[in-house]
Amino acid sequence: MTHPEHPPASSAVALAPDTRRLPPRAARAWTEKMRVRALGDGRYVVVGQSDSAYEVDLQSGWCTCPDHQYRGERCKHLRRVALEITGGRLPDPDRRATTCMACGRRAFVRSEEPAVCESCRFTPGTTVRDRETDDLLVVVEQTGDRTDCVLIDEGTVADYPTNVGYPHGDPVVMCVYPFSGPADEPFEQQQQYAFPHSRLKREWRPQRDERDFPVVPASSP
Ligand SMILES: [Zn+2]
Ligand SMILES: [Zn+2]
Repeated sequence: MTHPEHPPASSAVALAPDTRRLPPRAARAWTEKMRVRALGDGRYVVVGQSDSAYEVDLQSGWCTCPDHQYRGERCKHLRRVALEITGGRLPDPDRRATTCMACGRRAFVRSEEPAVCESCRFTPGTTVRDRETDDLLVVVEQTGDRTDCVLIDEGTVADYPTNVGYPHGDPVVMCVYPFSGPADEPFEQQQQYAFPHSRLKREWRPQRDERDFPVVPASSP
C-alpha cells in the first residue's frame, strides 16, 4: 500500500473574510497570497507575493522579515501562520504533518506519536475483535511500526500465515486476550500479541452522548 506524500503546504490563495474593519497588517495577513509550509519545531516558511521567503517561529513570536526585525511588529507572516493553523490547514507547533499508516489520509500527529490518525488509532484499553477468529482483544499499544518490520517467532508479523492478506504497511497493534490471565493482573503484564491494524475491528458501542436512556427524576411523586 503506497500513498503519495502530501507536503504540509497551504495553497497560495487569499483567505478573504470581510477585512474592511481590520487593522492593515491583520487585513494583509488575510488577503495577500502567501504560501506557508511547516518546517517542524514550531517553525514555518512563508513566501509572499514578492517571492521573498521569511521564517516564522511561532512559539517565540519571531519572524525574519524587516517589519518584525526593524519595527518589532507582529507582522503579516506571523498572523498568517496563526490563521492557517486555526483553519486546520497547517499543523500546530507541537504536531507534525504525516500520512496515516492505516488509512492513507493526511494527519497531524504529535511528535512522539505513531503516524496513525486519530480516527484510526486504537488507544490502550480499546476492545477490538480479531476479524480472523472473532476473538475479543484489548489493545495495549498502538505502535507506528510496520508489520513487515516487526519480528515475531519465525519471521515478521506480516509473514505470519493468517496475516498474509493484510497490508504490509499496516501499523502493528499490541493486544492481550482479556480473559487469559488472572482477573487482577494488569494487561501490560500479560502475554501480548502483535496484530496488523486492519485485522482488528472496534467493538460496536453507542456514543456516550447519544444514549437514549429515559431521564428519571430524582424524586418522583
Ligand atoms: Zn514577518
Ligand atoms: Zn487513519
